[in-house]
Amino acid sequence: MLSAVLKSLSVYEAGEQPQDRDFIKLNTNENPYPPSKKVDRVLRKINYQKLNLYPDPDSNRLTEELARYHKVAKENIFVGNGSDEVLAFCFYSFFKQDEPLLFPNITYSFYKTYASFFDIDYKTISLDKKFNIDFSKFLQQKSGGIIFANPNAPTGIYENIARIKKLLQSYQEKVVVIDEAYIDFGGESCISLLGQYPNLVIVRTFSKARSLAGIRVGYVMASSFLINALNRVKNSFNSYPIGTIASKIAICSLRDDEYFNKTIKKIIKNRLYLCEKLKELNFKILPSFTNFVFVTCKDFSAQVLYKKLKEKKVLVRYFADDNIDNFLRITVGTKSQIKRLIENLRNILSNP
Ligand SMILES: *Cc1c(COP(=O)(O)O)cnc(C)c1O
Repeated sequence: MLSAVLKSLSVYEAGEQPQDRDFIKLNTNENPYPPSKKVDRVLRKINYQKLNLYPDPDSNRLTEELARYHKVAKENIFVGNGSDEVLAFCFYSFFKQDEPLLFPNITYSFYKTYASFFDIDYKTISLDKKFNIDFSKFLQQKSGGIIFANPNAPTGIYENIARIKKLLQSYQEKVVVIDEAYIDFGGESCISLLGQYPNLVIVRTFSKARSLAGIRVGYVMASSFLINALNRVKNSFNSYPIGTIASKIAICSLRDDEYFNKTIKKIIKNRLYLCEKLKELNFKILPSFTNFVFVTCKDFSAQVLYKKLKEKKVLVRYFADDNIDNFLRITVGTKSQIKRLIENLRNILSNP
C-alpha cells in the first residue's frame, strides 16, 4: 500500500510536546516569553469573513517588511512555513549534486533527515576538540554544497564572521547555507556578506528569538538568482505557504523592535544566571550564543539526569547520538523556571 521510499526514511525526532501543562519545557528552545502585546491587537482586528480567501501566494507584504527590516531588496527574500520548510526547499534546490553535501557531524539533526528524504549524498565533517566548526576540513574535499547552523545547535557555539568569510572566499561554485535560527541571541549575522557572495544563503526563523513558534514562519535571504530558484520549487509544491493570520502577526513582530530587544536582553541575562548556577553544581558548559546551553556533568550520566528531571516534570533535551550522549541541551527559561530546574538538579545530584 505504501510507497517504496517510506522504507528508507530516517524520520526526525522532534522534542516532546507534552499536552500536560505542569511540565517545565526546556527541551525545544521555545522562547519562554510571549510575543509582543501588539500581536493581541492584530488578532482582534482580523476580519474572519475574509478568511474564505486564499492568502497572497507571494506574501508580498511580509516580504517587503522583511526587506525593509534587514535593509536588503525584496528580491533577496523568500518566506515559508517555518524555517524547516525553507530548509527543505534549499536542500531540494541546491544540494542535489554529483558531489556530496557537507555538514558538521554535530549539528541540527534535520539536515540528515532532509538529505535522506531528498536522496542527497552527504558527508559529515568532525567538529574540533572545542566543538568549533573546522572550515578548513570542508575545503579539503570536493562537495556539492555546505550547510551549518551559526550559532551551531545543539552546541550553542558561535563562529565569527571572519572565519566564515574565509570559507566563502575559497568556496564560490556551490551554495553555502547558514542556518541563523539563534543569531539574535548575541552573534553577528552574515547578512553583510550577502552582496559579496551570490552563493550565500541565510535561513532565519520567527520561532526562537521572536517568540512565534506557533505561527510557523521562516525565511531565506540570498541573491535573487537563488531566491528565484526557491520560488520555482515552492510553486511546484505549495503555492500558499503563509496563512493570512501568520503573515499579519509576523509583520507586527517586526514592527515592535523595542519589545524584541527587551526580550532578548532578558534571555541573555537568564542565560548568565543559569550558567552560574550550573557551574556551582559542577557542570561543564559550552560557551553559548543561543537561548540554550549544552552541558555535561562529570559524575552523572546525562541520560539518567534527563529521566530523573522528567519524573520531576522538567523536560530537557537528551540526544542518544555518539559524541554527545553525555550532554544535555537545556533551553534558557524564565528565572523561576531556572530556579525549579536547579532545585531539582541539586536534589538529584545529592541523592543519586
Ligand atoms: C528551531 C530550529 C529550526 C526550525 O525552526 P522553525 O522555523 O520552527 O521550523 C531550524 N534550524 C535550527 C538550527 C533550529 O534550532
